[in-house]
Amino acid sequence: MSDLAVDRSIDRSKMTVSDEVAIEISNMNKWYGAFHVLRDINLTVNQGERIVIAGPSGSGKSTLIRCINRLEEHQAGRIIVDGTELTSDLKNIDKIRSEVGMCFQHFNLFPHLTILENCTLAPIWVRKTPRKEAIETAMHFLEKVKIPDQANKYPGQLSGGQQQRVAIARSLCMKPRIMLFDEPTSALDPEMIKEVLDTMIELAEEGMTMLCVTHEMGFARQVANRVIFMDQGQIVEQNEPEEFFNNPKSERTKLFLSQIL
Ligand code: ADP
Ligand code: MG
Repeated sequence: MSDLAVDRSIDRSKMTVSDEVAIEISNMNKWYGAFHVLRDINLTVNQGERIVIAGPSGSGKSTLIRCINRLEEHQAGRIIVDGTELTSDLKNIDKIRSEVGMCFQHFNLFPHLTILENCTLAPIWVRKTPRKEAIETAMHFLEKVKIPDQANKYPGQLSGGQQQRVAIARSLCMKPRIMLFDEPTSALDPEMIKEVLDTMIELAEEGMTMLCVTHEMGFARQVANRVIFMDQGQIVEQNEPEEFFNNPKSERTKLFLSQIL
């Protein structure tokens, strides 16, 4: 089992799960044309949960989390985020996107904008936040991810790890209640994985509700409260990390774990 390469102990005391439901997915199905990519997904996520989604390549992990902020559309069943159902109603989609931040494998920063401009663009133009306030907020979160000194550079001048931390800071500037991560460290060199995981751990320590697709099983073991295993478009198994890793139930989970651990 790969250990979580962070330099400090992890404070789980504030990682409390509330009774309040953040995301409720019921009998959700999705097709890409004739291909049935997500099958009868049922998943309830409470505020404060840190969920790691694991599973082989092509199992539907990205599609599932992209459905939660409507980057992909589901065709059957329901997705309710913070009490609002995702339908084709644009008002609801906007509301949900304002509450759900997302961070991708490839950081998707705007290359022609500075780090600071990347962080203030949506707050100013989407949220109508006054420029001065947007800048203050952006600097606050750039300090939080430990790169305030890079504010006036362009993404191409930063390392991969720094760019990913900017991407996280940019999401946080919209004050999301939920953060979705899709393999945020997969494109990074090993020495940069740690700094991004550290930022994610800090968010977890502040009580953020997080869904993370990741192969970092050390992170899963030490930070997640629940691990979900997907295969062929289905949630095959889910459990608290200790049980999930030590006592997997299904043959498919056992096979997966034997390949990655
Ligand atoms: P994972 O993130 O677990 O690797 P994905 O959600 O990306 O899996 O993909 C699940 C399956 O759906 C794969 O077989 C993939 O090839 C297919 N797929 C993903 N995106 C599309 C798309 N836009 N159109 C058609 N098929 C897709
Ligand atoms: Mg994926």
